[in-house]
Amino acid sequence: MEQEFNTQQHDTIQAIARILKSTNSILFITGAGVSADSGLPTYRGIGGLYDASDPEEGIPIEQILSGPMLRGNPELTWKYLAQIGQAAHGGTFNRAHEVIVEMERHFERVWTLTQNIDGYHHAAGSEKLIEIHGHMRTLTCLSCTAKIDVDSLSEQSLPPKCSNCDGIMRPDVVLFEEMLPEAAIMTLQRELTTGFGVIFVVGTSAGFPYIQQPVYQARTMGVPTIEINPAETPISHVVDYRLDLRAAVALDAIQRARQSQ
Ligand code: NAD
Ligand code: ZN
Repeated sequence: MEQEFNTQQHDTIQAIARILKSTNSILFITGAGVSADSGLPTYRGIGGLYDASDPEEGIPIEQILSGPMLRGNPELTWKYLAQIGQAAHGGTFNRAHEVIVEMERHFERVWTLTQNIDGYHHAAGSEKLIEIHGHMRTLTCLSCTAKIDVDSLSEQSLPPKCSNCDGIMRPDVVLFEEMLPEAAIMTLQRELTTGFGVIFVVGTSAGFPYIQQPVYQARTMGVPTIEINPAETPISHVVDYRLDLRAAVALDAIQRARQSQ
């Protein structure tokens, strides 16, 4: 993945590689942009899912993908869940996910906090992983709480039904108007308390407070922060370094610069 960089990008990549020479712990905070390099659509921006509403019903996507809608009109919520699931299933992780795994293996302590539900970090091999919005690998029955692997789902109509009790199944993702998973929050708090030597924020519009907060905290503690995103976000003016590059290109370049320094 050789690419020409301008002087500023080149210098920033070298500076980040130098920072990585003197640290042993990294937090990667990732969003849909990391999977954009795998061909998955992001949620906001051009062609973004949240910009759409259901053409038949005229309902905004935030309502369609909400906890209350799943309970009131599971067919409608599942119409979109199935699209998201199929898109993720049809692709795979990319160089950005791979570099994060390589870093996890190289450094003493590397955690990844992702908002993505596609499971690509998991598939790539990330082990210290906080999937703050859940994932689509398993489904839970809304009636009897039985859990199944999504792969074991036989071809059937939507919404999928529980083989125990015929209840409606849901994916183990966080829908709008739902709480974040408690275990994920606890792990995140624990690791943030321990602290990190450097924080990367990659491919996220950084709209949620729990995404911004670690960056602000790092800032007050003098921990270097790096944003990788072709577009500006609410934290762009807060971070120490910004690379306006695609995730896979930037992380691959940083990895090569680190290895050759
Ligand atoms: P978002 O769609 O709000 O923002 C995506 C960000 O990625 C934007 O800032 C965009 O500029 C940037 N981007 C686009 N292409 C990029 C690339 N190639 N490299 C680096 N950055 C790139 O996504 P978000 O911040 O993750 O939004 C949060 C919500 O969207 C979450 O609730 C999340 O669960 C959900 N979501 C998940 C997936 C997924 O699992 N793959 C996909 C879309 C949205
Ligand atoms: Zn059931």
